[in-house]
Amino acid sequence: MTSKEIRQQFLDFFKSKGHLIVPSAPLVAKNDPTLMFNNSGMAQFKDFFLGNGTPPSKRIADTQKCLRVSGKHNDLEDVGFDTYHHTMFEMLGNWSFGDYFKKEALAWSWELLTEVFKLPKDRIYVSVFQGDEKDGVPFDQEAWDIWASMVGEDRIILGNKKDNFWEMGDTGPCGPCSEIHIDLRDAEEVAKKSGKELVNADHPQVVEIWNNVFMQFERMADGSLVSLPAKHVDTGMGFERLCMAIQGKQSNYDTDVFSNTINFVAEKAGKKYGEGKWEDIALRVIADHIRAIAFAIADGQLPSNNKAGYVIRRILRRAVRYGYTYLGFREPFMHSIIPLLAEQFDGVFPELVAQQEFVERVILEEENSFLRTLETGLTRLDKIIAETEKNGRIAGEIVFELNDTFGFPSDLTALIARENGLSIDEEGYKIALQAQKDRSRKDSSKEATDWTIVSDEDFDFEFVGYDETEASASLIKYRKVKTKAGSEYHIVLDKTPFYAEMGGQVGDSGVLVLGDLSIKISDTKKENDLFIHISTDKNFEKFVEQYATNKTLVAKIDTARRSKITSNHTATHLMLSAMREVLGSHISQKGSYQNEDLTRFDFSHFSKVTDEELGKIEDIVNAKIRANIALDEKRNVPIQEAIAAGATATFGEKYGDFVRVITFDPNFSVELCGGTHVPSTGQIGLFKFVAESSVSAGVRRVEAYTGENALAMFEEQLAIVNELKGLFKGQADVVKAVKALLEEKAILSKKIEAFESEKLQAIKETLLTKVQAVGEVNVIAEVVSVPNADALKQLAYELKAKIDNLYCVLGAEVAGKPQLAVMIADNLVADKSLNAGQIIRDMAKEVKGGGGGQPFFATAGGSDVSGLAKAIEKGKSAV
Ligand code: ATP
Ligand code: MG
Repeated sequence: MTSKEIRQQFLDFFKSKGHLIVPSAPLVAKNDPTLMFNNSGMAQFKDFFLGNGTPPSKRIADTQKCLRVSGKHNDLEDVGFDTYHHTMFEMLGNWSFGDYFKKEALAWSWELLTEVFKLPKDRIYVSVFQGDEKDGVPFDQEAWDIWASMVGEDRIILGNKKDNFWEMGDTGPCGPCSEIHIDLRDAEEVAKKSGKELVNADHPQVVEIWNNVFMQFERMADGSLVSLPAKHVDTGMGFERLCMAIQGKQSNYDTDVFSNTINFVAEKAGKKYGEGKWEDIALRVIADHIRAIAFAIADGQLPSNNKAGYVIRRILRRAVRYGYTYLGFREPFMHSIIPLLAEQFDGVFPELVAQQEFVERVILEEENSFLRTLETGLTRLDKIIAETEKNGRIAGEIVFELNDTFGFPSDLTALIARENGLSIDEEGYKIALQAQKDRSRKDSSKEATDWTIVSDEDFDFEFVGYDETEASASLIKYRKVKTKAGSEYHIVLDKTPFYAEMGGQVGDSGVLVLGDLSIKISDTKKENDLFIHISTDKNFEKFVEQYATNKTLVAKIDTARRSKITSNHTATHLMLSAMREVLGSHISQKGSYQNEDLTRFDFSHFSKVTDEELGKIEDIVNAKIRANIALDEKRNVPIQEAIAAGATATFGEKYGDFVRVITFDPNFSVELCGGTHVPSTGQIGLFKFVAESSVSAGVRRVEAYTGENALAMFEEQLAIVNELKGLFKGQADVVKAVKALLEEKAILSKKIEAFESEKLQAIKETLLTKVQAVGEVNVIAEVVSVPNADALKQLAYELKAKIDNLYCVLGAEVAGKPQLAVMIADNLVADKSLNAGQIIRDMAKEVKGGGGGQPFFATAGGSDVSGLAKAIEKGKSAV
C-alpha cells in the first residue's frame, strides 16, 4: 500500500465512524502564546477542550503537519541518527469532544490496525496508566479491561506518569493515555527476545505508533486535579511510522515517504544510501529537514534571525552542514529537492505546489548565504586552531561564539578540532549556551495566575465589533499576569466590540465603563479563540469590586484610533489587488501589519519595486478610493463557495468551513478576511507609499500612509517646498533655481581655491625674505593670514622644501581661533634633539589650547587669539 493510500484509508475509516474530516492547521501556530509550531494534532482544537469554543462536530479526524523542534517536544538532535523521529511529521488523529470515550476509541484503533491495515496482532503491545498515588489519580482499570478483551492481558504493559499521563501544560486538561507499540523486528530477533521487554526502551524496531489520550481531569494552578464534566478523546498516530509498519520496513526512511528524496540526493552526491554510517545520517537529515523547511516556508514562516524564523534557519543550516561535511556538497542543493516534494504532496498539502518557485528561491538564497558563512567560519576556525597549543582544547566560549555569531555549529567545530588533533570544551560550551537560554527565557517570561471566574453561566461569545463600537457586556473571568514591565490584567467578556489582534490588524484600545468608574483597555489579543482585553489600569481591583453590585458594564472602543486602523486595512486590500495588476499575479502576502499609523505589507516578489511601479500602484489605489466603492461584506460563506468566487486566501492562515468575504468591486478585490473595513473606500481619503525595502530573499516590504496621516505627510512636504519658494522669491521654478545655485557654488569654490593658492604663494615669498640666520639655523617665526589650518600646514611643508636647516614657527587666526604650527628640519631634530611636539605644547599654553604631533612637525589649536604673538615668541626662543 502506498503512503498516499494509507493516509486516505485512515481518513475514510474515521469518516465511516461519523467523523468530520478537516484540513491540517498550518505548521506555524497562530494565536497561541505557548506554542511556536503545531506539535500535535490537538493543538488546533485546544479551545474546544478548554471550553472556549464549540467544535464543528463532536467527532473530528485529520492529518496534522507537526513540527517538534522547540519547547516541550524537541526531537531535533535525534533526527537522522535514529530511524523514526522526524522534525516535521504527519500526525493522524481522531477526536471526540464530549462524545465517545475509551471503549469506542480503543476498539476502533484495534479494528483499523488489525482489520483494515492487517498488521499482525502478535506484534502489537499496548500500555495502560498504572495510577499515581501522590497525584491522587487511579489505575486506568477501564482501559485495561477494554484492551484485555481484545489483545489479551499478556500484551498490556503498565506505564507510569511520565509515559502514560498526558497534560496540556502546567495547568489545563489532562488524563491517562494508552499507547500502541509495534514490534517490527525479523522473526529471528523476535525468537531471541520478547518484544514486550523492548517497549519504551528506545529500540528502533519496537516503536510507539499511536497514542490515545483520555482527557478526564483539569489541573489547577495549585496542582490539584478536578474531574471534567465532559470527557474527551485525543489520539495521535505517527503517519511515517505507520507506513513503516504497513510497508514492512524497519526504518521510516525506507518507506515511499522518504525513499525518492533519499535516492535523489544520494545520486546528486554520487553516493549510495546504506553504504556508510555518516553518509546515511546525512541523507536522513536532509530528507527529513527539507520537509520541515519547505512546509514552514509555504505556511508563511520565512527563515530569519529570531523566534520561529530562527528555528527554521537552524534546521536548514543543520541539513546544509551535513551535506557539506559528509556528502561533499559545496554548492546549494537543498532547493533542488522541492519539485520532488511538491509532487509527492500534491493533493494532500497543496500549498507547496502552489508556491513551489517561491519556496525554492527562498531556500536557495538561504543556502548561498550559509555556505558563505561556513567559509568565513572555517577561516576563523583555522586561525583559532593555529593559535591553540598542540593537543589543546578550544574554549567553550569560542565554540559558542562561532555558533552564535557565525552560525557555525558546535559539532562541526568539534569535528574539525578532532581532525586537527584538538578537542573542544563541551562543558564550557553548554554553560555558555545555557546562559543564553536563561537570558532569553527571562526576557520572554510571563507568569499568569489562575483565572478568577466571575460568571460561570454558559454563554456564546459574541464579537460585535464589525457593527458596533460599544456594547453592554458581562464580565466572565479575569487573571493577573506578571510581565517584565510590571503586571497586567487579562479580562474576558461575553460580548465585545474590541477587535483582537489578528491577520495583521492590531487590537483595539478603549475603556470598560461601570457607572462613573471606567478603566482603560490598552490592547486586545487573542489566545486561541479567546478575546483577551488587556488593562494595566490601577483601578481594576476596584472595578471588579463594584461589578459585584453593579453589573451595567459597557465596553467602548477608541473609535478615532479604530477608524485609522480600519482605513489602513482596507487600503491594504486595494493595494494588494493593484500590485497584482502592476507587478503580476505572483504577488502573494507574506506578512501584514496595520495600526493607526501605517500599513506594512510583505509580499513575494523578486526585484525592487521601482518608483514608477509604486506610482502606478498608488494611482490605481487612489482611483479606487475616489470611486467610493461600497463594502460588500458576507459572513458565514462556505469556504468552497468563497474560493470558487475567486477570493484570495493567504497560505499559512487557518480558515474554518465558513469564512467572511470582503469585496470592494467583485472585479477588483475579493478576500477572505476577518478584519474591519471602511463602509466605502472614499473614507480612506488618500493613499501614499512611504517606504520600499527588501525583507529577505524573494520578499519585499512596502509601507504606506492613508487618510490624515498621508495628508499630514503631504502638508509637511509642501511646507518645505513653500519655504524654499520663499527663499527664491520671484523665481517660478524652484528646482531650476536650486540647480543653478549649486552650479554657481561649484564655480565659485573653484575660483576661491585658486585665489587662496595664489595668496599662499605670496605669503611664502614674503616669509622667504624674513628668514633669520641664528648660527647655522634658519629661523622663521611669524603670524600669517591663512584661511584654514590646512593652509598653515601646507605653508610649513613648502617652506621646509625650500630652506635648509629650517626652524619655523607659524601662527594664524582662523575663524576667530588661534592655530599654531612648528616645522623643524630633520637634521636639526636629529642633531640638536629638538622636538616640535614638545615645543608646540609649550606654545599652546599661551593661546589656552593644546596640540601635538611628530618631532619634526606639530600643530595646535587654542581659544585665545590675544596670546598668538606671545606663543610665537616662545616658539622662537626655543631654539
Ligand atoms: P516518542 O516517545 O516515540 O518520541 P511521543 O511519546 O513523543 O513518541 P506522542 O507525543 O504521544 O509521541 O505523539 C503521538 C504519536 O506521534 C507517536 O505515537 C508517534 O507515532 C508519533 N510521533 C511522535 N513524535 C514523533 C516524531 N518526532 N517523528 C515522527 N513521529 C512522531
Ligand atoms: Mg517524543
